[in-house]
Amino acid sequence: MNFDVVIIGGGLAGLTCGIALQEQGKRCVIINNGQAALDFASGSMDLLGRLPDGSAVSSLRPAFESLRRQAPQHPYSVLGIEAVESKATQFENILHQLNLELAGSARENHKRVTAIGGLRPAWLSPNTVPTVTNHQNFIHQRIAVLGIEGYHDFQPQLLIDNLQLNPQFAHCQFSSGFLNIPELDQLRRDAREFRSVNIAQLLEHKLSFDELAAEIKQAAGDAEAVFLPACFGLDDQSLFNGLKQATGLALYELPTLPPSLLGIRQHKQLSYRFEKLGGMMLNGDRALRAEFEGDKVACVYTRLHQEEPIAAENFVLAAGGFFSNGLSAEFERIREPVFDADIIETEQFRAQDRFSWTHKRFSSPQPYQAAGVIINAHCQVQKSGRFLPNLYAAGSVIGGYNAIELGCGAGVAVVTALIAAERIGGM
Ligand SMILES: Cc1cc2nc3c(=O)[nH]c(=O)nc-3n(C[C@H](O)[C@H](O)[C@H](O)COP(=O)(O)OP(=O)(O)OC[C@H]3O[C@@H](n4cnc5c(N)ncnc54)[C@H](O)[C@@H]3O)c2cc1C
Repeated sequence: MNFDVVIIGGGLAGLTCGIALQEQGKRCVIINNGQAALDFASGSMDLLGRLPDGSAVSSLRPAFESLRRQAPQHPYSVLGIEAVESKATQFENILHQLNLELAGSARENHKRVTAIGGLRPAWLSPNTVPTVTNHQNFIHQRIAVLGIEGYHDFQPQLLIDNLQLNPQFAHCQFSSGFLNIPELDQLRRDAREFRSVNIAQLLEHKLSFDELAAEIKQAAGDAEAVFLPACFGLDDQSLFNGLKQATGLALYELPTLPPSLLGIRQHKQLSYRFEKLGGMMLNGDRALRAEFEGDKVACVYTRLHQEEPIAAENFVLAAGGFFSNGLSAEFERIREPVFDADIIETEQFRAQDRFSWTHKRFSSPQPYQAAGVIINAHCQVQKSGRFLPNLYAAGSVIGGYNAIELGCGAGVAVVTALIAAERIGGM
């Protein structure tokens, strides 16, 4: 098999890169082993929420110099502010062609309401998720927070107790309640089955759409806005938008415990777009090893193609971090399993020193989170001390940053994916 580009990993980074390359007329294949971080994510995408010294970031550009000083190995520091900003904006434009209604801008973070009533900074959020800016009160006053009878992953009273501590919600009057949806009775028999995805699957066919809309309206009482767990609409927002229209209420949805419908919708729409543009997905397959010719990657072999090489001009490693097995930890070292690329070392973290991987305080940022491959400003990957001309990396397989600590996971994924795609396309 021969392609222009082989991409390893079909998460946010791999799919974004694949879409940009297909749009440039490149023939791409994505080898994808399984679920991605998107399937477990909040649906809100982060660009940069915090600096390593803990200070909050409301806008990327003014914070950039401090980030570069405090985290010189962060991918943004390697790429530079102009590249990061321009690729973040390019991604916002790509989103317009997808069936994803995300709101936000790289110019300023907003704050999204979490499932337990906290406020977290974000770059882009589904327009169905309740958000505020730093200085703005939430636009509605009377809010009903409604759970679903028997569904434990969303607790209305907990959300209310926490949310009303935030000044942006201090003017609100809250009520809580639970929806009674008889179609879900069959799920109640097994608590493990009572998850957002199972609920969405059952309700997908709109068999009792009118009853559901009536139930929401009744449970909302005199509220003008309603917060619901994200359990309505598996592929896209159309069911949720329909409910909004039918109830005449300002309905909002909140991410639940994983798996997360808001992230799954994004994964589906990105995959759909990639395939619609002619890209090929090898789902359920796993890249195992690569062959090199000089300092170039020649081909990869996969679990299902152990004898048949998959060759290309260029390769993109978008296999994710430890969560997705894009990195693996052995007793004495951390490694990148497909290309055996060099792993970054930081002040706190050394790949071959197990004792440097963790911090003794469980709740502190953990140094191993900064593990990953080394890139240059074109996102080319370093192996044996040299940057390989036709191997690029995108997303959380890259080292030098802690996405959880800094709130920058999706931003790094799409910015690096689009830089790699531009470099490959321009060659
Ligand atoms: C649980 C969780 C929740 C998160 N929530 C958020 C959030 O709400 N907002 C945010 O901005 N960021 C979030 N992040 C950060 C997240 O990592 C990035 O936002 C981004 O989604 C990472 O995308 P990725 O494509 O680099 O990696 P991944 O999404 O991990 O995708 C990598 C893919 O590669 C596949 N793969 C791995 N090895 C191979 C192989 N050898 N061959 C073939 N396929 C392979 C994996 O199966 C996986 O599908 C979250 C991360 C995690 C782990």
